[in-house]
Amino acid sequence: MPIDPTEPYDDANIFAKILRGEIPSSKVYEDEWAFAFEDINPQAEVHTLVIPKGSYVSWDDFSTRASAEEIAGFVRAVGHVAREKGLVEQGYRVMANIGAHGGQEVPHLHIHIFGGQPLGPMIA
Ligand code: AMP
Repeated sequence: MPIDPTEPYDDANIFAKILRGEIPSSKVYEDEWAFAFEDINPQAEVHTLVIPKGSYVSWDDFSTRASAEEIAGFVRAVGHVAREKGLVEQGYRVMANIGAHGGQEVPHLHIHIFGGQPLGPMIA
C-alpha cells in the first residue's frame, strides 16, 4: 500500500528500525549521513538501498528540510556504494519511489541502486 508522503515521519517504520538496529539488515555501508543495505526482495543482480540517517519521509521532505551537509553526505554515499559494488564501468540505475504515484511503500526516504545486468526499459 503506497504511503502518503505528506504524513509526518513515523518512527516505527521498518527502515527506522533497521537504523536503530532493532531488526537485522544486510549492511553494505555506513557513514555519518547514510546507511546502505541489500534489498530483501532483489529486482536485479545488484539491488541495494541507501537511506539517510535523518528522519525524512520522502525526497520532497529531504530536499526541503535537510541541511546542505546531510544532502551532500547522502548523495556522496549513494555514489560510494555504487563504486564499491563495482557498478561504475558497466553502469547502473538509481531510483527513488515517492508517494502514491511513485509506489513508495516504506515511509523513510530510500534510493534503490540497481545493477549487475542490463536493466531494460526505464519504466516497465
Ligand atoms: P519502495 O516501494 O520504494 O518503498 O521500496 C521498498 C523496498 O524496501 C522494497 O524493494 C522492499 O523489498 C524493501 N524492503 C522492505 N523491507 C525490507 C527489509 N527489512 N530489508 C531490506 N529491504 C526491505
